[in-house]
Amino acid sequence: MPQRKSVPLAWRRFQARYRLVGSKCKNCGKIYFPPKVFCKECGSKEMEEYKLNEEGKVLTYTIIHAAPSGFEHRVPYCVGIIELKEGVKITGEIVGDFSKIKIGTKVKAVFRKIFEDGKSGIIHYGLKWKIVE
Ligand SMILES: [Zn+2]
Repeated sequence: MPQRKSVPLAWRRFQARYRLVGSKCKNCGKIYFPPKVFCKECGSKEMEEYKLNEEGKVLTYTIIHAAPSGFEHRVPYCVGIIELKEGVKITGEIVGDFSKIKIGTKVKAVFRKIFEDGKSGIIHYGLKWKIVE
């Protein structure tokens, strides 16, 4: 499959461009993720790109044992709310040994394959949170 060769390059570009880049208000300093075009705090439209810290902690989590249709093979899996150092809260799947997970567990952002389209060969990636040992 020749199109496979283009995946690593596209993958690197994807990571550089989309990896936890939010926006920061130049006026009041409020940080947003996903990025916003204007600030909800002060109304300013002076926003700049802001690279968020990739480490955070678990605020709350749920371990899923009964998955929706199409995801049955993945149970159990863990989803939660992660708080980054900047105070931004992001929901997402938590990966790693989540048998030891608790509130306050440190996690790190990773990009992982979510699913692969068998017909087109397209691999879909998404942001997940890996438990830091
Ligand atoms: Zn602002």
